Amino acid sequence: MLASKFVAKTVASSRCWTRFASTSAAPSSYKLIVVGGGAAGLAVSSTLSEKLGKDEVAVIEPSAAHYQQPLFTFVGGGLKDFKETFRPTADVVSPEAHWINQAAAEIDPDNNTVTLADGSKVSYEYLVVAAGIELDFSGIKGLQETIGKNGVASNYSPKYVQKTYEFLQNVKEGNALFTMPATPIKCAGAPQKIAYLADELFREKGIRDKVTVNYYTALGKIFAVDKYADAMNAVAKSRNINVNLFHDLVEVDGAAKKATFKLLGTGPKAGETLSVPYEFLHVTPPMKPFDFIKKSKIANAAGFVDVNQHTLQHNKYANIYSLGDCSSLPTSKTAAAAAAQSAVLKQNLLNQIRGTDAPSAEYNGYTSCPLVTGKHKLVLAEFSGYTGAPHETFFFNQANEHAFSYWLTAEALPEIYWKSMLKGTWNGPSSIRKFANPTGAN
Ligand SMILES: Cc1cc2nc3c(=O)[nH]c(=O)nc-3n(C[C@H](O)[C@H](O)[C@H](O)COP(=O)(O)OP(=O)(O)OC[C@H]3O[C@@H](n4cnc5c(N)ncnc54)[C@H](O)[C@@H]3O)c2cc1C
Repeated sequence: MLASKFVAKTVASSRCWTRFASTSAAPSSYKLIVVGGGAAGLAVSSTLSEKLGKDEVAVIEPSAAHYQQPLFTFVGGGLKDFKETFRPTADVVSPEAHWINQAAAEIDPDNNTVTLADGSKVSYEYLVVAAGIELDFSGIKGLQETIGKNGVASNYSPKYVQKTYEFLQNVKEGNALFTMPATPIKCAGAPQKIAYLADELFREKGIRDKVTVNYYTALGKIFAVDKYADAMNAVAKSRNINVNLFHDLVEVDGAAKKATFKLLGTGPKAGETLSVPYEFLHVTPPMKPFDFIKKSKIANAAGFVDVNQHTLQHNKYANIYSLGDCSSLPTSKTAAAAAAQSAVLKQNLLNQIRGTDAPSAEYNGYTSCPLVTGKHKLVLAEFSGYTGAPHETFFFNQANEHAFSYWLTAEALPEIYWKSMLKGTWNGPSSIRKFANPTGAN
């Protein structure tokens, strides 16, 4: 069954779905509007709707299903069922908040209004923008025509994530390619995680000597932070995975099963292209800010919501905040980062609404990337995207592959995500760190 049909059927059969199915009686003015009901938007709206009272907060979210995207890597690697990754949006939006089941089409910060996809307007006193980042499959020539077919898949989309495992299982010999684009993306570790899981699968099937595993990244390093880059280079080497730096995927020819890369950097071949035949191709698409944000007055030159990197308050409009993947925060875009950001944002915004304090809580750039390397192995990168310094929760060296780190990521964090993060009570591991790593080692 097609992923989208399956999700629609499951979501429509939710007992709570009818609660929010109509928006006809919706008020048109709110104390707070949150644009986006993803990981970041719900972490904020759940707490603030409780604090501000029923129907003072609206969540604008077009999707009927909420996806826990970090689980997509496990689905692509055949370690989790796709069914575990989503829930009806009606079940995860706080009952205190009003879910507006539409997309935001325009933000007018001078008049405090958001225009919805159907043309109607809603107004706000305060606005939080948490709409995520757009996947740009059309940014690679030929990709849209072939993704989901011809051995081409992507863990980045709920539409194609199940194809990853399906196509990996079909591989018998040849090249398996895994790509990372040059644009900012969410979870910059996910493009390589699936290469390790594929390597393990090929070994289990006894075909690893017939399959070449190639990781192609447009960037000049395997990971941004040296400590974890060293660890991942060692893992790749020990597994005979070829790491190709400065290779940007620009074209896919599905019929011929050929991927073309443009060589970046300053090497002698920079600017040239290289075509590689493949049996399996995992694409991480380029990503970009949504147009409705990019074209608005709240965006910076790159199209992200222009906020103070410490307080998360907009640099020009004091009643607007942003967090998560759509924000200008110069850190790695992850749900882990969004959790830490949500605590700061909520404190600053509540203080402002209550008139008790100017925004004074500060976000330090904390982010985390659990680099799964096998069924019970994982390198748990935790660091500040602002300083590049590791910021590990546990006393052991998290750059080493650990079964505990795997369990934490595959079993504990998904529960924390549904039961705590979306309810606004998970602010990241800083309180655990005090006990689990009291000396601040690593
Ligand atoms: C394969 C993969 C693996 C990942 N692994 C990890 C991991 O291991 N650890 C980790 O911490 N993070 C991981 N992430 C990243 C993480 O999922 C994101 O960084 C996180 O979801 C960001 O939260 P967000 O709310 O900013 O964006 P999202 O969760 O993407 O939510 C954005 C929401 O905005 C909605 N929206 C879009 N357009 C509009 C509009 N016009 N109007 C209103 N709403 C709109 C969307 O429907 C969506 O619900 C992974 C992501 C992927 C894809």
